Formats: sequence, C-alpha cells, structure tokens
Amino acid sequence: MKIVRAEVMGMCFGVRDALKIIQKIADPQSVTIHGQLVHNETVLVQLDASGFAMTDESSRQEVPETPVVLITAHGVSDRERSRLADAGKRIVDTTCPLVTRVHQAALNLQKQGYFVVLIGRRGHVEVQGIIEDLERFDVVSTEDEVKRYPADRLGIICQTTAPARTVERIREAIARHNPDAEIRFVDTVCLPTKEHQRSLERLIEQVDAMVVVGGSNSNNTRELAKLCQERGIPSIHVQGPNDLDPEWLSRFENVGLTAGTSTLDSTIDEVHQAMLQMTVNVEA
Ligand code: SF4
Repeated sequence: MKIVRAEVMGMCFGVRDALKIIQKIADPQSVTIHGQLVHNETVLVQLDASGFAMTDESSRQEVPETPVVLITAHGVSDRERSRLADAGKRIVDTTCPLVTRVHQAALNLQKQGYFVVLIGRRGHVEVQGIIEDLERFDVVSTEDEVKRYPADRLGIICQTTAPARTVERIREAIARHNPDAEIRFVDTVCLPTKEHQRSLERLIEQVDAMVVVGGSNSNNTRELAKLCQERGIPSIHVQGPNDLDPEWLSRFENVGLTAGTSTLDSTIDEVHQAMLQMTVNVEA
C-alpha cells in the first residue's frame, strides 16, 4: 500500500492562534471555555486535564461561574458577548478573524436591506453566533431547503467551512426560486477550507481510497469525507490511529491521507505512522 499525503491538510491558523492564546493562560481554573475550543476530542481532553471549565455547546445560554470566559474560534453573537459582559465576566476572545468577517458581512447586508440567506449547518455554533444578531434570515444546508423568500433583495453568505460545490448548488437554487429578487453573494468561505478542499480534489485523482483524520463533530472534516463519497472514493473518517481498520486498508494500493482544520499535526503523524506499520505488516 502506498500512502499519499494531501499537500494541504490539518490545523488552520484560526485554531492554531486560539490554542496559542489558551496556552498562555496562567490560571486555567478561573476560565470557562464557552463551547468546544476546537472540535477535536484530543485537545478537549488536554484542556480538561489542565483545569479549564468548559460549557457544553448546547448549554451556552447559562452564565459560567468563573470570572473569565473564553470565546472560541467559532465566535459568538454580539448579543451573547453583551450578555456575558453584563454578567460581569471578563472575556478572552479567540474568535477567528475569518469568522468575524462573516458576522460583518451578515450585518452589512442586513443594514442595506437584504434578507440574509446563510449557507451552512443549522445548529452549528458558528452559524448560531451569526444568526443571533440578525432579524430577517434563513439558514440552508442543501438546495432542497431553499424557498421563495419574502424579500426583493437577498444577501447570500456562507459558513466558513461550507464546501464550494454545495455553495454553488444552493446559489443556483436561490436564483431559481427567487427570479425577481436582486441577489448579492458574499463569499465568506475561509481560505484554509478552500485550500483543504482543493488539495483533496487533486489527491482524489491519485488514490483508490482515503483516510480522513479529524474530530467526529468537526464540520470541515465531515465535509472532506463527504467529498470523497461524492467522488466515489471509499473513505474512512478516523479520530486517531486506533480507529484505522487494517483489513479495510489492505484492499487498496494507493491510499490518500488528509485531515480537517482542527486536527493536530501530531495526530496526523500518528495515523500516518500506523498506516506505514500496517503496510509493513501486510508485506511481511
Ligand atoms: S476553519 Fe477557517 S474560519 Fe474556522 S478557524 Fe480555521 S481559518 Fe478560521
């Protein structure tokens, strides 16, 4: 089995910067991480062991007990930020600047009178943070969810990790369902996501199967696995080397390796090493 690594994969600058900020915090016991810092179980276990409190993503409406609250790279709404500040919390903000850009695009469109259509996964924390500051909006994740909107002007934006092909399909569906509307599109998919997806597209041409490394609830990791599925490439989504299936891997000659934007370099290397070891075992 030959293993081919994606040219671009793994942790993006937004997640790296958030981790750098958190590593400098001297007193973890005084800090609650408001949600999951990254959708990566290994990192979350390490943070828990360091003494940080963590709010479950589904319980962010509660006010944390610690004096300091850390906003994750996924960001929060201005409304949520004010709520925490009003409760007397000091805020450490690790929101990725490319998420902030989506918030600004959404608010600008709304201010200019556009009905905002956000292409993304309803319920995802990033999406939640964006829509909480909006009055007129819809969230769509597939073209089947698109409808005729009660507005003359539609402003389309995207979750930072939305796949390009999904965005294109939904844009076309919005235009089809709203032929009389003025439609403005602001491409807010982040560059690291685009680079990961493009790199995977190139890799798919070279391999028979793919190993995708990343957290089970990482949106962009799931999108990488979905892209393989759509291209007819068998893939396995693993969180670490223990999830690899030697029997499954042994069926293929050329196997690609890619990883989502919240995956640690060390985890990718561990998976790569385990795959190499399996190659040796198969050939021995
Ligand atoms: S995936 Fe994109 S938007 Fe999200 S943290 Fe990384 S760089 Fe920022």
